[in-house]
Amino acid sequence: MGLFKRKSAQTESTPAGPVKKNTGPIVLEQCLCANGHNLISDQATFLNHPGITLTLSNDRQQGMLSLSPVIGDKDRTFFGTEWLEGEIVSICCPVCAEPLPIYNECFCGADLVAMFTTSKNDFANCIGICQRIGCTHAEIISNYDLRVISRSGAFDKGTDLYGRV
Ligand SMILES: [Zn+2]
Ligand SMILES: [Zn+2]
Repeated sequence: MGLFKRKSAQTESTPAGPVKKNTGPIVLEQCLCANGHNLISDQATFLNHPGITLTLSNDRQQGMLSLSPVIGDKDRTFFGTEWLEGEIVSICCPVCAEPLPIYNECFCGADLVAMFTTSKNDFANCIGICQRIGCTHAEIISNYDLRVISRSGAFDKGTDLYGRV
């Protein structure tokens, strides 16, 4: 008796990589500028989900763009402005007009800018989009895998990959 053999560090069977099976489309619910404004609005909807609305500008003109919040859906709508294919624009928050921060280079040579999926301006949890008109390259970077951006509950609550409480 008295043998309390505690099985320490019993990790839940959380798979190492992103799990994407049988969860249906993954929809972003939160997408923030560096000042914490949610970029998701009803300006445009995609598959019945409110889109991500951004301001685009360069020295020629300024306009609005809405992106689908559905991961993998490349649908996007431009408002009121004709952009030329290949043109490079600043992508800004429509609320504070702050340009989204550049965090990487796209394979097309333009810069990728980040929209944050958590409120910590954490480049480990962001969506990257390309500043070049016509380039639909987007990246999803998430230390939380898809838990943050999915309501499908594929991940256990309280799993913090940073080891923080
Ligand atoms: Zn903002
Ligand atoms: Zn690109």
